[in-house]
Amino acid sequence: MTFLVTAGPTREPLDPVRYISNRSSGRMGYALATAALEAGHRVVLISGPVSLTPPQGAELHRVTTAAEMADAVQTRMDTGCDALIMCAAVADFRAREVSPRKIKKRDGITSIDLVPTRDILSTLLLPRDHRVIVAGFAAESESLAENALRKLREKQCDFICANDITRMDTGFDAHDNELTLFFRDGSTRHFSRAPKLELARAIVKICEEIAEKR
Ligand code: C5P
Repeated sequence: MTFLVTAGPTREPLDPVRYISNRSSGRMGYALATAALEAGHRVVLISGPVSLTPPQGAELHRVTTAAEMADAVQTRMDTGCDALIMCAAVADFRAREVSPRKIKKRDGITSIDLVPTRDILSTLLLPRDHRVIVAGFAAESESLAENALRKLREKQCDFICANDITRMDTGFDAHDNELTLFFRDGSTRHFSRAPKLELARAIVKICEEIAEKR
């Protein structure tokens, strides 16, 4: 299979030196790429800015902004993909206007006009045969199940991997994760706290099982 995996944060510029981003380390996405390679798959890794060494054998595409990630995902989807795992913590907002010059401290900024970034999953054009497996991630600080189920519907996913980010020892910028997977048929699977690579192996296996049934 060909796995398309997105990882890390995106950065949305305010001026040539400043940006809006988030704490995503990219570890979960890189673990997914590693797990898929281990299982003998072809891996295309679309990565936001992170300080991790990419797994050997992955075809790496580095991007910075959400718009660049959206273009990279669509382009790679069009050239053939069996499973897309959107693990990236795509920034939800970008500045409406990016200043071409560094904003001077003495001039001050009273407000930043933000607009939503394009939602990659919701706007992605999938091949007509409906064979691509699509998995999303959801980092939630409240109503985990409710929000995950809404994202499952709205983002045309086969399953959503949801984690509770109020726990500081798992999830964002951590080595371990604890996940609940929500599937289209209404079933769920909970994975207790474990290293990200272990969870990644389980997610790759689930994609293989879905692919076998299609
Ligand atoms: O809506 P929220 O950002 O919580 O959804 C998370 C899921 O949606 C992740 O799989 C993320 O990669 C994806 N996403 C996206 N495009 C965005 C924001 C998030 O595809 N602009």
